Amino acid sequence: MQINLSRLKLQPQGSESFYLEEQGSDYILEGAGGKFLDTVVVELLVENTGRMYLARGTVKTRLSLPCSRCLMDFSLPIHTDIELAMGSASKASDSEEDDETIIFYGDLVDVSTPVFGAIFMAIPIIPLCQTDCRGLCPVCGIDQNQGNCSCIKQEIDPRWEKLKNL
Ligand SMILES: [Zn+2]
Ligand SMILES: [Zn+2]
Repeated sequence: MQINLSRLKLQPQGSESFYLEEQGSDYILEGAGGKFLDTVVVELLVENTGRMYLARGTVKTRLSLPCSRCLMDFSLPIHTDIELAMGSASKASDSEEDDETIIFYGDLVDVSTPVFGAIFMAIPIIPLCQTDCRGLCPVCGIDQNQGNCSCIKQEIDPRWEKLKNL
């Protein structure tokens, strides 16, 4: 995912909008067991401060993720903000760049890492298909969103589980 700053480079204090659309790579979601259902759409407004390039915009896509309670895959729309700073390698040495700044050579800047980072940050730590997902029955494994079973469920606090076995 690249933006081309060849035009903006010639306009200090100017700004330019970029629209990027690309298929997401499923491997970045492997840890979460998910995949991309839509292309990744990035809209950025990049500003040339004269010293560096500041970009802000949005990242949109749609993911399929397994619910952490019932394990069913569900669709999660992602719409998140992104901000990034880019510095040309030729100017980078004399300014106070931090680790967040993307240093680039020439006119092309690869923004894939911050874009996928923003998508990753937008995934909930405990993804749920619905906020009140009832999950699976711990006894028979039935999806309790689909139906009820007649299992006797003892709600044992896991901290007491050990004491029970004494
Ligand atoms: Zn669920
Ligand atoms: Zn059951």
